[in-house]
Amino acid sequence: MAELDKPQREVGVPGDWTYASAPESREIVHISDRYGYFVGGEWLEPAETYETIAPRDEEPLATVGQATAEDVGRAVAAARNAYADGWSSLPGSERAKYLFRIARVLQERSREFAVLESLNGGKPIKESRDVDLPLAAAHFFYYAGWADKLEYASPNRRPRPVGVAAQIIPWNFPLLMLAWKIAPALAAGNTVVLKPAETTPLTALLFCDVVRQAELPPGVVNIVTGDGRTGAELVSHPDVNKIAFTGSTEVGKAIQKTLAGTGKRLTLELGGKAANIIFDDAPLDQAVEGIVNGIYFNQGHVCCAGSRLLVEESIYETVVSKLKRRMRTLRVGDPLDKNTDVGAINSKQQLDKIGSLVQAGIDEGAEIYQPPCKLPERGYWFVPTVFTNVAQSYRIAQEEIFGPVLSVLTFRTPDEAIEKANNTPYGLSAGVWTEKGSRILAMAQRLKAGVVWANTYNRFDPASPFGGYKESGFGREGGRHGLGPYVALDDA
Ligand code: NDP
Repeated sequence: MAELDKPQREVGVPGDWTYASAPESREIVHISDRYGYFVGGEWLEPAETYETIAPRDEEPLATVGQATAEDVGRAVAAARNAYADGWSSLPGSERAKYLFRIARVLQERSREFAVLESLNGGKPIKESRDVDLPLAAAHFFYYAGWADKLEYASPNRRPRPVGVAAQIIPWNFPLLMLAWKIAPALAAGNTVVLKPAETTPLTALLFCDVVRQAELPPGVVNIVTGDGRTGAELVSHPDVNKIAFTGSTEVGKAIQKTLAGTGKRLTLELGGKAANIIFDDAPLDQAVEGIVNGIYFNQGHVCCAGSRLLVEESIYETVVSKLKRRMRTLRVGDPLDKNTDVGAINSKQQLDKIGSLVQAGIDEGAEIYQPPCKLPERGYWFVPTVFTNVAQSYRIAQEEIFGPVLSVLTFRTPDEAIEKANNTPYGLSAGVWTEKGSRILAMAQRLKAGVVWANTYNRFDPASPFGGYKESGFGREGGRHGLGPYVALDDA
């Protein structure tokens, strides 16, 4: 095994396998100096502003608005007017046309959006180009198909929209989360006010251009920017009927408290601490790819990341050794380089959080491994990290790190694997790697997780519902289930 731990080749010597840089052009996207709020189809000038930056080099990208209670009020009023003015009563087949248009425009402009997503958020361009953008468009296509079929999905009932939806999204998949929220809401005849995360507002603001191109009636989609204060104003606005939130469990709980007794609908998609479970009969090379994809995809800024690796004891040495070898081939660096595997950490705040949890892992006695890696001088970076020798009680095995940090634990029997996998306050996702189909089904039934992947990880499809148990939240997004929160059912 020790052999596998040695680097295969020295980087930078003739015959090495390093890639020349392949930068995507920054010029593909035009970023305005200043953005206001998109309300009722118009841009409103903000009174208060802040600067949004590129995490790869801290370059200021644009000035954006910090929406106040008054701004939020205007946006909700515009959404209410659009709802009452015809959007809610438009035939589903007509609403579908707008959603199809949005999907097509997103596809046409996907290169521009991918560059902006990587610039503002820090994720590698190959992920924004090959994952975020195609999936965002696919969500609009998928829900366009549902718009005129709501009655078929609810036999003997009369479906109607719920009203104005307030939607608050995080910074890890800015455009994709926007699509997850807006597409089902519009398909069902609701109007929306959406707040992107403070650090990643730009693709949501560029999306306003798509809304105009698709000639969506003014006020059906409204975008306000700002930090958590803006989110809190939106949640507590009395004329909002439904809140959809994706983000931290802490803020999710605060929202739940605010809404208690108001009768407003709520769905929460919160954090996770997923177990990725490898049995000794699994195809190990594929499993190692799945482990890497599970935790280093999007720098580990993924709520369903496979952040706890559970390996059957008999293959522990082999798996860890293969994993370390694979980690040495990961290319960390400029998100706009098409060869980059791991991009920039989204913000200084998140970088500090990852750093302090990693320090806690070291202090508690876990063994750390980080491959040799030259990081850019400016910007926010964290080397892909794996911890072995981890006890279940360690913070790195309990808390969501939301960074490229993996904790490895072992098990001897399926029962022990289940016990350890479910030993978390979260319940969003899990992975199982084994040749045996029967074992996959048996494990999936006993894992307390909303999504269980078998011999793969981090696969998403608009037709498939996604959501959690316990502190990972409630409600489902995606698929027919994702429409439920946006549809009220009257007696036929
Ligand atoms: P938050 O939960 O604070 O952010 C999610 C969204 O909620 C953002 O748009 C945020 O605005 C907004 N928000 C913040 N406070 C409030 C509030 N009181 N009422 C309404 N909306 C609010 O997550 P953070 O960005 O602070 O990240 C902290 C940790 O949360 C991460 O380290 C990670 O562990 C976890 N997280 C989990 C995510 C998931 O998908 N499950 C996504 C993001 C984070 P703003 O951006 O301005 O703060």
